[in-house]
Amino acid sequence: MSGLTDLMTMAKPNEALKARIIALLARGPDMCLQCGRCTSGCTAFRLLELKPHEIVCSAKMGFVEELVSSKSIWDCALCLKCAERCPQEVSPYELILSLRNEAISKGLEIPEALRDILMTLMETGLAFKPKKAVDREGKAYGREELGLPALRTGLSEQALMALMELLGGA
Ligand code: SF4
Ligand code: SF4
Repeated sequence: MSGLTDLMTMAKPNEALKARIIALLARGPDMCLQCGRCTSGCTAFRLLELKPHEIVCSAKMGFVEELVSSKSIWDCALCLKCAERCPQEVSPYELILSLRNEAISKGLEIPEALRDILMTLMETGLAFKPKKAVDREGKAYGREELGLPALRTGLSEQALMALMELLGGA
């Protein structure tokens, strides 16, 4: 996976791809004023190689292929703050989701952590593997030791089929 700033040195606008990416968005990046409000409240500010207003700007300029291939779109926490803060109702969040969908439909590499979540979800029905609680002395406690009922895990066949259909694997 390449860094976006590296890719930008050879970037060429791709208007056809831009049109496809923004087709499902309520408001496209062309409405962005570059006010920076999205970035000023971004949860993943420190992680993002390109900040939300820069991602929107790059999409507006047609550098969509570079965004689709970049790590930046996977570092977003999908918290929706940018969508709430935008005075123009341009949602960097929705744009990032659309870019992720394009990356997946192209079969591009996705971060290992997300693949792990998907596998855990399919195997157990839980998004994250259960962890033990740790006290101040570093002693770990499982659910049973804490008097909690055992977790119900596993997906029903129907739920698994629905998940596979969502993933396009059915
Ligand atoms: S808050 Fe909205 S208008 Fe302002 S830079 Fe972000 S996307 Fe653009
Ligand atoms: S949805 Fe992503 S880009 Fe928007 S504020 Fe949250 S972390 Fe930042």
